[in-house]
Amino acid sequence: MSSSGTDAKAAAAFPDGTKDYVPLRGNAAAKAEALKSKVHIADTPITWGNWHQHVNWLNTTFIVIVPIIGFISSYWVPLRLYTALWAIFYYFHTGLGITAGYHRLWSHSCYKATTPLKIYLAAVGAGAVEGSIRWWSYGHRVHHRYTDTDKDPYSVRKGLLYSHMGWMVMKQNPKRQGRTDITDLNEDPVVVWQHRNFLKCVIAMALVFPTVVAGLGWGDWIGGFVYAGILRICFVQQATFCVNSLAHWLGDQPFDDRNSPRDHVITAFVTLGEGYHNFHHEFPSDYRNAIQWYQYDPTKWSIWVWKQLGLAYDLKQFRQNEIEKGRVQQLQKKLDQKRATLDWGIPLDQLPVIHWDNFVADSKNGKALVAIAGVIHDIGDFIKDHPGGKALIKSSIGKDATAIFNGGVYNHSNAAHNLLSTMRVGVLRGGGEVEVWKRAQFENKDVTYMNDSAGQRIVRAGSQATKVVQPAASADAA
Ligand SMILES: [Zn+2]
Ligand SMILES: [Zn+2]
Repeated sequence: MSSSGTDAKAAAAFPDGTKDYVPLRGNAAAKAEALKSKVHIADTPITWGNWHQHVNWLNTTFIVIVPIIGFISSYWVPLRLYTALWAIFYYFHTGLGITAGYHRLWSHSCYKATTPLKIYLAAVGAGAVEGSIRWWSYGHRVHHRYTDTDKDPYSVRKGLLYSHMGWMVMKQNPKRQGRTDITDLNEDPVVVWQHRNFLKCVIAMALVFPTVVAGLGWGDWIGGFVYAGILRICFVQQATFCVNSLAHWLGDQPFDDRNSPRDHVITAFVTLGEGYHNFHHEFPSDYRNAIQWYQYDPTKWSIWVWKQLGLAYDLKQFRQNEIEKGRVQQLQKKLDQKRATLDWGIPLDQLPVIHWDNFVADSKNGKALVAIAGVIHDIGDFIKDHPGGKALIKSSIGKDATAIFNGGVYNHSNAAHNLLSTMRVGVLRGGGEVEVWKRAQFENKDVTYMNDSAGQRIVRAGSQATKVVQPAASADAA
């Protein structure tokens, strides 16, 4: 394709050392030289004088101007029933060319296809007018590799409209986009042929074919051209563009919330099942996007049917065990965030250490202090709310109430231990009480020092330090 000298020049043009991207057409070295020597238009501000230079007119023609012409001409062209049904039917096929072909087969190798299926997908995919397989899959692999960064060709961080169409309408500096490997695609004869003959493929599959079917089928040449051709292109484009915009903006993130991809049934309905995009970015080589049988994923259903017909094989699927691990970890993260918003009391190791004599003296001087399992609590504000009455709780002031609290009088609930922990003011030093606390610490050691992902201490149900299964009755409590 090119000599070693031009290869070296082309590689030098890519500062990240990428050598695998060699354009199929034109002189790679000359292009690289041109890129190096002048400032790319995309790196200059848009002004009244230069805005037309910022616009990618080829893309704009295919995704903006042609659809507008279609909408205007539909005013004079009546829509016939057969043509409408044909346009919808062909819409699904061209959409599948993108979702099952461009995306799941060629971008992610989620399954293997026989040559007839490849030819069908390459043909109907061209009918969607979204660029060649090679170009589309290259950009999409970069999108997965650099999701949400500046190297992501359609990063939603640059705006919803940008991720939907803006990245195609406005010229982009190719040096700013990330790079990826497509050697497998360069070795696929269907991909290479479609790339080299892309304009012919588009004219044949996007315009001529739908027109001829309607024309020869029921005599509606102009209707076939306008509805099954131009307007169907517009709808299938807008629908599949939603994978880059809506699927990164609307919905839940059950597997990972560090990046923008989301799951939503509306996006799934619009995109032939590509709406479970949080799952997809986590498990990109899974031939499914929807993993539940009741979720809408006609792309998955089609691939499955092709498998039954012997047209597709080696369908890849992540083990349910791996999928559930991701889901549990994300749930844990949400749980940690929720836990961090709650009042768990002052951590024991941050409390002042108080001598038993001071504890007793403060209690006599009017403070409502109670020691339980070596932890001192100020229950002053709580006495009036005590469900067991004021008398019982007051009788424990200035005492070690470990046994009383843990079953001696009433075996308090987990909620009571949780509430008690918010009243902590100190820990006891000396005597039997600190032994109790030390033992409780020892017994709960694993639990006491278990931290969540944010470093917050986790206290499991029944594991508060004040919970003592067989309370050591101190002299005071007896
Ligand atoms: Zn995505
Ligand atoms: Zn993908």
